[in-house]
Amino acid sequence: MYTETIKNKLGPCGLSCGKCFAFKDGEIKKHSLELKKHLGNFDIYAQRFSELLDEPSFKNYPAFKDMLNYFTSVECKGCRKESCKLFKNCKVRECHQEKQVDFCFQCAEFPCQQTGFDEHLHKRSIAINLKMKEIGVENYYNEIKQLPRY
Ligand code: SF4
Ligand code: SF4
Repeated sequence: MYTETIKNKLGPCGLSCGKCFAFKDGEIKKHSLELKKHLGNFDIYAQRFSELLDEPSFKNYPAFKDMLNYFTSVECKGCRKESCKLFKNCKVRECHQEKQVDFCFQCAEFPCQQTGFDEHLHKRSIAINLKMKEIGVENYYNEIKQLPRY
């Protein structure tokens, strides 16, 4: 049987909230904060290095910093606690509550056509749910927990 911790890291659609860039306790946020801390005032040095070194990458530092700032500022508690910030048309969150299931594969209507996802995500959600059904949620979680989501 899977734990509440595992459930909170996986959405009912099967996608990994725990590995989402927006997840407030996720690795991407954690490492972005750490990287930001270690970079300190690198803005000034990026400017200097772009002049001193023959390396055009330093000119892109402001865009990189914008992305890093974004990664450090997003704060999603995960799909079990709040609406998804990425997939605005998701119907699964409300639907699984109505159907009183933790995951779509536990629903009598699975696989349905009412996830609200685009084709790519819809297929991915079905594939993940089939896998969880086959090997169990806990085993699935253990398989993916060291892998990146993206
Ligand atoms: S609910 Fe959506 S935005 Fe939030 S952590 Fe999960 S996948 Fe990411
Ligand atoms: S109806 Fe579809 S979206 Fe809703 S819980 Fe069942 S399988 Fe998931």
